Order: sequence, then C-alpha cells, then structure tokens
Amino acid sequence: MIKVAKFGGSSVANATQFQKVASIVKGDDARKFIVVSACGKEGEEDHKVTDLLYLCRAHMKYGVSYEEIFSMIEKKYYDIAETLKVNVDLKSHFDAIREKMDKNMNVDYLVSRGEYLSGILMAEYLDGVFIDAADVIAFDFDGQINMEESKERLLKKLEGVPGEKRVVIPGFYGSLPNGVIKVMSRGGSDITGAVLAGILDADVYENWTDVSGVLVANPTIVKNPKPIDRISYNELREMSYMGANVLHEEVIFPVKEKNIPINIRNTNAPEDKGTMIMENCDKYDEKDPPHFITGITGKQNYTVITVIKSHASSEEGFLRRILDVFDKYKIHIESIPASVDCFGFVVAHKQVESCLYEVCNAIKEKIKADEIRIATNISLVAVVGRGMAYKPGMSALVFAEFGKQNINIRMINQGSDEITIMVGVDDKDYEKAIRCIYERFISA
Ligand code: ASP
Repeated sequence: MIKVAKFGGSSVANATQFQKVASIVKGDDARKFIVVSACGKEGEEDHKVTDLLYLCRAHMKYGVSYEEIFSMIEKKYYDIAETLKVNVDLKSHFDAIREKMDKNMNVDYLVSRGEYLSGILMAEYLDGVFIDAADVIAFDFDGQINMEESKERLLKKLEGVPGEKRVVIPGFYGSLPNGVIKVMSRGGSDITGAVLAGILDADVYENWTDVSGVLVANPTIVKNPKPIDRISYNELREMSYMGANVLHEEVIFPVKEKNIPINIRNTNAPEDKGTMIMENCDKYDEKDPPHFITGITGKQNYTVITVIKSHASSEEGFLRRILDVFDKYKIHIESIPASVDCFGFVVAHKQVESCLYEVCNAIKEKIKADEIRIATNISLVAVVGRGMAYKPGMSALVFAEFGKQNINIRMINQGSDEITIMVGVDDKDYEKAIRCIYERFISA
C-alpha cells in the first residue's frame, strides 16, 4: 500500500507542527511519500513564508531593503531546526539564496524556497530522503505539467533510494525543460501531491490541513458545520464551481483519472477520519443514508435577464440567436431556466454591469422579443447530493423548507444527473437559505 501525504502550510508552521507531522507519518508505514508546503502562519499576526518571499521580491523591485523580511523567514526555519535538533546546515542554504537574490534572479526560484527549506528540514527530521521537486516535477514551456516526463524522472530518482526510507518532496514547484524553476498557482502544493499520487499509482492521496475535511457548508454562514464523510469527484466539482472553497480542479485531475481517493485530514486532530473524495462513493454508501444532501453552497450577486416571446419554443434558432448576443459581449451564462415561451439567462452581475442595457436591446432586436425583464441581486444556492437522485420528493422538501422560512424562490434549476438542485433567491435571503437547509437536513 502506498500513500502520498501532503502537509499544508499550517501543518509545518513551527516545530510543534513538525512533531505532529512526524507522529502522523510514522503512524502508518504506507505513508512513504511526503509533500510539504512552506511554513504557514503561526497565528493571526504572523505571515506565511511564501507571502514573505513575494514581499522580499517586491522590495527588491523597488530598491528597498528586504533584510527585515528575509530575516523573519530565516528565524522561522532556524527555530524549527534548533527546537527539533535537526542537523541541517541552514546557513549554507540561506547564503545560497541570498547570493542569487543579489544577482538577476528568477522570481519563481525565490518564492519556491519556502517549500524547499521545509522539505530539507522535514526529510532530515523524519530520517528520510529529500528529493528536490525541481528534479522530478517537469513542466513544459507552456506551463503544463508533463506527467510522462515527471514519472520518468521520479522513478529514476527512486532507484537510488533504500526501500525502507521515506521520501520528502517540496510542493508548489518544478522545473521547465531548460532547468529553470517554475512555481504553480498559489496553494499549488496540493497539485504536487496529486501529481505524485497519480504517477506512483498511490492507493490514497492524503491531504493534511487544519480542518477535519470538506465542510458541508461555509463556516462563516453556518456555525461549526459538520465535515462531509464521503464526496464524489462530481459532487466536489459542483461544490467548488458553485463557490465552495475546496480543492483546485488541477488537484482532482491526476488522481481522478486513476481513481485514487483523496482523503482530507486534520493534522491537529489526526484521529478524525476527515473527508474521502472518490470517484464512486455509491458502493460505500448505505442503502438508506442518514442524509441525502452532501453539501450546501452558493454564489451571490447574479442578474437574471428574462426573455419572453410567445411561440418562441417553436421558432427555429431562437435560442442560438440570443446566445450569439451573449457571445458577442463575452458573457458567460451560468444557467438557463426555461418555460415554454420564457427563457431566463443567469449571469454574474459584474459581467453585465457595464453593458446590461446594450445586451438587452440587442436581444430584443435580434429576436423581436415581446418583453425583456431584468432581476438583479439574485443569489444562487446549490444543494448538492448524489443521494438525492434516488430519493423521491427531495426537491419538494427543499422547496417546502424555503417556503416555511418565508424565502421567495426566484428560480429553480436541476441538472439531469440530479446531483444539484439550484435555487435562485434574493441576495438578502442568501445566508438564511443556506442555514435553513443545513438545519433542516444536516443538523436536525
Ligand atoms: N506555499 C504556497 C502558497 O502559499 C503553496 C502551498 O502552500 O500550497 O501558495
């Protein structure tokens, strides 16, 4: 059994966190491949190392001394090394970075050093082997990760690693074909973990963070929401698309392809099982699950342009002509709830704020609409759950709850896979709508 375990910034923020990581890693022999982020914040007042590195770069750009900021970074790593009595010559690493900073340096090199140093320290602390991500994560010149090349490089590197040793690889960066370091998007260590899990055909990709899994609802709206036990990739995609702050699309791709489950875990509560994200949850699901809703999420500030024209449904190319107008203005349509002669086009308000009346006029003209109505300040609330498809009356229960809470439903949409029921409500009812569904179906 092989597990790739990625530890995020908060999991390696200081020596105490390093100790937690070590006990988690050593608690399971399958945790062979460890990916680490740069040190995260220790508290509210503190700063993430990656942010500090970007800040150093900004100071350099404007010719202002970066000394104070850089020494904050140095102190973090020296403190960890000293407390844990890790035998690493940090000074030589910092000297090498400083030397490059004084020359014409690649920014990505500088901002990747947080992960690099975490990796060096963690490898030594775990008595493992450090493999530099620059040697194994291969980018093409277009910025895409080359999985084949990365696999080849990693397997080659692993040839020299004794079987009993754990391997520590820094997250967030790799290198271009000419050897120049390139970083991923922010939060990219998650991607490194997923790429390695994919390459190694891991049994599980563990993603250790500071929450006990993906939460059912946004914790700023619902107090102490429960974590989700199991969620399918498709449900997760719906949740992230509809605004939930979960894993990046790029993280899902390398593992989904190979059907490798992702387990989101909490470094500060390792006994919690966390959330399992997997392709096919159904086979693990009970016949009659405790609740049919996996997650509740949503987005605010939408505008609905409703186009009404009698007998439109039988008019050839009617919809296409309207879509051409949206296309011309480069407006992305979120959803099109429709009835016989009435079509609603739901779009993010910021996309139309500068051209709303032009767009409406253009549509009116193009299809000779009877009427065009505009509704602004609309929120979309998405109730996501693979179990809903099998549960007759589920949407009725959701809508009834809104009715009971006096929340006016402005629009309803359900995809044909029945994973998501999407409801449009007034912005002012947004949080109330999420809370009432949580209370009625999850915490009740
Ligand atoms: N350290 C990087 C960041 O702060 C990458 C990561 O933590 O995943 O974005």
